[in-house]
Amino acid sequence: MWNPGLAGELLQARQLDLQSRIDEADQRALNAERAKEALAEDHPAHPHHLRSALAQVERAIAKLHEGSYGRCDDCGAAIAADRLAATPEAVRCGDCA
Ligand SMILES: [Zn+2]
Repeated sequence: MWNPGLAGELLQARQLDLQSRIDEADQRALNAERAKEALAEDHPAHPHHLRSALAQVERAIAKLHEGSYGRCDDCGAAIAADRLAATPEAVRCGDCA
């Protein structure tokens, strides 16, 4: 038997369910878009850039241990103090970087 009150409730529940699924789908699409952007080679969050940044930090730590921290890896010149203050992982002087 057709019941307008019941139909109205069912439709409203269906409406709310679809609206929340649309919101979730929009959020997933936005997240996927951001993830795709981060996979662009020139994006700072690309794994290649993160690994390269980590390698530089690890190189700076190694230089601390071997006593060459603050000296340029390429020319051996002292790395400017303000450069090291701004970028503690700097392993090259301003000229060689
Ligand atoms: Zn240098």
